[in-house]
Amino acid sequence: MKQMPKLNANLKAELLATGSVDVDASLLTGTSTSSAGPGTGLKSIFFTSGGHRVRLDLNKNSPLTMIKENNDFIILKDDKELVRGEIEPVLAHCPEQAYITLSERCIYDCKFCSVPKLQGRIKTLDEVVNIVEHAKKTGLMKAIAITSGVAESPEDEIERLVAVISALKRYNVPIGVAAYPTINSTKLLKEAGAVELKYNVETMNRDIFDKVCKGLSLNFILDSLRDAVPVFGKNRVSTNFIIGLGETDECVREGVEHLAKMGVIPVLRPITLQPLRKDELEATRPSAERLLKLALMTREIIDKYGLRVDVSQTMCLTCTGCDITPYRDI
Ligand code: SF4
Repeated sequence: MKQMPKLNANLKAELLATGSVDVDASLLTGTSTSSAGPGTGLKSIFFTSGGHRVRLDLNKNSPLTMIKENNDFIILKDDKELVRGEIEPVLAHCPEQAYITLSERCIYDCKFCSVPKLQGRIKTLDEVVNIVEHAKKTGLMKAIAITSGVAESPEDEIERLVAVISALKRYNVPIGVAAYPTINSTKLLKEAGAVELKYNVETMNRDIFDKVCKGLSLNFILDSLRDAVPVFGKNRVSTNFIIGLGETDECVREGVEHLAKMGVIPVLRPITLQPLRKDELEATRPSAERLLKLALMTREIIDKYGLRVDVSQTMCLTCTGCDITPYRDI
């Protein structure tokens, strides 16, 4: 009998390097797609097979296409079958988690992010609770994750996050939070009930950071990450490190080492070229080879510092949809 190709680290890297798939809408009837988080405005699917999961944007112009044969979803490249699997249900933004973007607007203007361009609304507590209730009813909700743009000021945003997290504690699932830090945000978010914390460095190349994240401070983010580790505990603090902004592999290696030495787990995130940002950002989506090489290197470094990804309970290290995640994928 013919062996069905399943997803593995190499195939996942190939899919991630493309980042999108063309799917006829009729195939997705009865499945749920995602439209929150950093890729707000795009619709995606979560494809899973062989114990790996990948998030792909839906794009009519993608070189990858999807067909359905009996109960299998098949991804084709140049009309050849690449991999077979299933489409996972999305609770809120991703599978198994209610991952909610609280303020869909931002006073900052990071050039890779669509949130400032959309200048959306700030969800009320009732709206957030409704999303979580809906996710809970599926019986699939294992965690809650909250992120947010900065609607008015970082301090004001932390206050809003604290109120939401305090209200969501009653669901008795782990809560993760990703935010821009303030002087006392770590303490406040921990006391509110968050168990995992993410402050994003975005890049460890200072020149690129200054160009792409105007108005934010990399030093402050790094200090906040360092100080958060003893508060949240080992393996409970992470940071997104975007790949494809022009940084070298050596910069990634040094950056990952710097972060891991502080006890922070880096999430290497292939850049998504937002249609709303195409004229403002010079970026190249990393190749499959680069993604695999950097993920393997990260695995070795976090291992050296005794960090573990498999104990993560919330956000991207658990979801794994957008990245090659050390230990989970490779
Ligand atoms: S890896 Fe993170 S950003 Fe990507 S879909 Fe999962 S939770 Fe969302």
